[in-house]
Amino acid sequence: MSEVFRPQNLAFSRMVVEEEGPVLPVAKLRDGAGRTGCPFHDVRHMLRDVGLRPTRQRLALGWLLFAKGDRHVSAEILHEEAIKARFPVSLATVYNTLHQFTEVGLLRELAVDGSKTYFDTNPSDHHHFFLEGENNLVDIPSASVEVERIPEAPEGYEIARVDVVVRLRPKRRS
Ligand SMILES: [Zn+2]
Repeated sequence: MSEVFRPQNLAFSRMVVEEEGPVLPVAKLRDGAGRTGCPFHDVRHMLRDVGLRPTRQRLALGWLLFAKGDRHVSAEILHEEAIKARFPVSLATVYNTLHQFTEVGLLRELAVDGSKTYFDTNPSDHHHFFLEGENNLVDIPSASVEVERIPEAPEGYEIARVDVVVRLRPKRRS
C-alpha cells in the first residue's frame, strides 16, 4: 500500500520551500498564518506545500507530530501515540513516513546514539542537550554554541551541517 516515491515532486517542493524564505511549513502551521482552524486541513496544506500526497496515514501522523510545536520524537514514541489515538498503523509505516517527512525537510533526523534516532519537528539549525538516562533532547539555540575548528571535509565532500549534542547527567553528590 506504500505510495510511489516521485523525486520530481521532491525537487519541485524544495524549490517552492526555498522561495518562500525562512518560514518553515511547521512554523506556518503553528503561527496560524493561513491557518483554517481545521487541523487536518492545515496538515493537508503543509503536505501539499512540500509535494507529498496527503494520504490518510501522512495526515494522521503529521497531525500527531506537528500539532504540539517543537519536539523530538522517536518512531517508537510516535507509534505509541498513534495507537493511543486509535489510529492503527504499523511501526514500519511510521518509520517510512518519518523518513519521507525528513526527505522533504519537514523534519530533521538526529542520531544521538548509534541505536537511537530522533526526529525533530524544528528542522532549522540548532543544537541539543541530551539528558542521559531520561533519553530526552532539549534545544540549544544555534547562536549559543560556537564550534571553533571544523575539520576539512574529505575530497569530494562538503560539510552539510554541524550538529552538537551536549550530554547531560544529574550532578553527582560528592
Ligand atoms: Zn531540536
